[in-house]
Amino acid sequence: MTTKLLMGNEAFAHAALEAGVRVVAGYPGTPSSELVETVAKLHAEGAAQGVHVEWSTNEKAALELAAGASHAGARVLFTCKQVGLNVASDALMSLNYVGTNGGTVLFVADDPGPISSQTEQDTRRFASFAKVPVLDPATPDQGFAMMQVAFDLSERYHTPVIVRPTTRVCHASTFFDVADTTEARPVPEEGFQKDPKWVIFPRRAYQGHGEINERLVKIADDFSTDPAFEQFNPVFTGGMTREMPQIGIMAGGVSAAYVREALAIVEDAASAAGVLIPAYRFMQVGTPYPFPEKAAAVFARGLRSVVVVEELDSVLEDEMLKLAAKIALDSAKTLGEDIAPALLEVLGRYTGHMPDRGENTIDDIALRLAKLLLSERYAQAADDDSRNAIEAVFATLEEAASGTRFAELNASLPVRPPVLCPGCPHRGSFYAIKRALGKQPAVMCGDIGCYTLGNAQPLDAVDTCLCMGAGITMAQGLAVAEPHKKQVAFVGDSTFFASGLTGIANAVYNGHDITVAVLDNATTAMTGSQPHPGTGVTLMGEKRKPIDIEGVLRALGVECIERANPLDLRECEAAAKRAIEFEGPSALLLVSPCIQLVKPSPAVTVDTETCTGCKKCITEIGCPAIGFDPAARGPRSKERGQVFVDASQCNGCNLCTQVCPFGSLIEGGCRD
Ligand code: SF4
Ligand code: SF4
Repeated sequence: MTTKLLMGNEAFAHAALEAGVRVVAGYPGTPSSELVETVAKLHAEGAAQGVHVEWSTNEKAALELAAGASHAGARVLFTCKQVGLNVASDALMSLNYVGTNGGTVLFVADDPGPISSQTEQDTRRFASFAKVPVLDPATPDQGFAMMQVAFDLSERYHTPVIVRPTTRVCHASTFFDVADTTEARPVPEEGFQKDPKWVIFPRRAYQGHGEINERLVKIADDFSTDPAFEQFNPVFTGGMTREMPQIGIMAGGVSAAYVREALAIVEDAASAAGVLIPAYRFMQVGTPYPFPEKAAAVFARGLRSVVVVEELDSVLEDEMLKLAAKIALDSAKTLGEDIAPALLEVLGRYTGHMPDRGENTIDDIALRLAKLLLSERYAQAADDDSRNAIEAVFATLEEAASGTRFAELNASLPVRPPVLCPGCPHRGSFYAIKRALGKQPAVMCGDIGCYTLGNAQPLDAVDTCLCMGAGITMAQGLAVAEPHKKQVAFVGDSTFFASGLTGIANAVYNGHDITVAVLDNATTAMTGSQPHPGTGVTLMGEKRKPIDIEGVLRALGVECIERANPLDLRECEAAAKRAIEFEGPSALLLVSPCIQLVKPSPAVTVDTETCTGCKKCITEIGCPAIGFDPAARGPRSKERGQVFVDASQCNGCNLCTQVCPFGSLIEGGCRD
């Protein structure tokens, strides 16, 4: 064993390998990608033996592959981000009915905020919809432990199990003791056994549904009572612990870690002001589905109210509302009509006590908890001194929560809106296509990838963006609804393989008049340059024949396919015109590697003798390496000021040299 400083996702990879995982498959997506990459790295170094790891074409392909290996008895791990589970959901829903053999763990990373996603969906909710158990770590350490027991749980009940960390858990780093080498568990000798249960007929689905319902009851019980799992649902008391607590705090995921820190902050602020915090009871729910109701009922015993702290959806709050109703009903039955039943008030997002979207923060939770804990004491305060002391606690916490302490620091930080990199070939693609369209009415349908950033000014070339592959099919709907307009759909090379093919087949089959611009930069750039079927190399380093996008388009029946280099504006615009003018589905293949993959060329320089300060290079293509100096003077710019090029950012793509009407941007830093 070695102690290593690891990011959560790296540690989860170690945990899965130590659990003997044999097959790891996923599709990249922030905040989940590092797990698969770590497995691949450890395999390449010889530290992870016997494991197969791959980036699959999309999440559905990955989960189905994992299901096949599990049927044969292998321990398998599937990874994706939260929206990736939508793609894999078709497989997941049925897989749960069919059941699993080898331990089957789905690592699905949620993204509160959202920081890099199109939705704030909650995988805990998806788990309950699919009737699949879910573990929800508060910290990287807890995620490490959960990854390992998830395989055991899966094998105990033949169910897929989801481990659902959120961004902060995935990307926080801490020290872990990890094995120096791991060996994948061999597939059992008997391998895949023929069995009618593996074939999902309606009759089998009916039986499977019953099995799911029965095992969920047992799993909920395990989550409350089995030490292997109840460790993830700890309870402690705080405040004036000699009192019986009447207030409960329940939290899940990273919010549980925030609440622990927030309570320490509240207690410090109260102690500084000489205020006593009433007794409270805290429970973390690390196994939100099936809800550990027995453990929660013990936690709630004697409480008057429970405040629920969670991100994304009101999953725990819903469960506590159900539990509160059961408690009231049970006590009414026991006590009879003349005595008021025990009532448990549930506070949280529905009641406005907690934020209903975005990420929670420790300071904000501290303020909200302080108000809940001290409001009654404030109302009942015997004198002004007591009231003033409590107000002092609130004031301290309010200052922290409002961010005023850091206002000066924040003000000095530059605002950095998301923007295409300097030298990004997508900039040329968008610019050339817009020029090719000219004034004709058009809708430009974007997709998921770096190129979504084409919607920013001045390019302003992405009018829609829905989900992976949707640009191609949405363009077809728009073409049907508005045939007088031209529809151009943008899709990246990785998304082309992940989710673009069916849309293109649909366009050909139904004869939709759209142009699909495939922005082929030879990688999955947005998520960290992962390989894909068009790159000719697998994650395990094997060389494969790259799947030729042009060949695929032709095989799908696209008759008009134009090809150009997006950094050659004249060539690109001419090719775009030909594709756009074609009646029926056409394709425009724009090929130039992502700048992360190639050595930069020398930076361009500005000829201050000829620059007029017209700013066309800024207002037309918006490269962040070009700035404007209003104080610069030249014979042609006079008082207008001139542009400058930040050589540390410029990668010498020479797009701007083709845009400047006066030849004032000099390629390679010198004149011909
Ligand atoms: S470099 Fe060319 S386009 Fe840019 S401001 Fe100067 S003259 Fe105008
Ligand atoms: S050559 Fe021009 S467009 Fe390309 S990165 Fe440099 S400044 Fe930007």
